[in-house]
Amino acid sequence: MAEETIFSKIIRKEIPADVLYQDELVTAFRDINPRAPSHILIIPNKLLPTVNDVEVEDELMMGRMFTVARKLAESEGVAEDGYRLIVNCNPFGGQEVYHIHMHLLGGRPLGPMIVS
Ligand code: 5GP
Repeated sequence: MAEETIFSKIIRKEIPADVLYQDELVTAFRDINPRAPSHILIIPNKLLPTVNDVEVEDELMMGRMFTVARKLAESEGVAEDGYRLIVNCNPFGGQEVYHIHMHLLGGRPLGPMIVS
């Protein structure tokens, strides 16, 4: 059984967060340390620590993360200019919170994909 993170508490509304969207599969809220004018995290309600834990049975939930990202990009007003979706995995990927999350970043030019 994977260990819960702070994100499980946000899903259950046990700690405050600026939640923008929630349904039976996913939750979306603003990142506490925004790296762009729009910086939203979209997470599955089910605890999966990393992309390495995704199974075929999770495909609906993973797909929902993209449709919610698309809707939030529209409501944030960043869809037309463009934005970036990032999912970090494990230490080399820069993952800090071990509950899968998709970063939605937009509102300014984001520069190169990777700073080497
Ligand atoms: P990672 O580096 O794991 O891909 O990204 C984790 C993200 O979660 C970071 O951008 C960080 O700012 C955000 N984060 C960490 N703790 C909290 C929290 O308690 N609330 C919110 N809203 N975001 C958090």
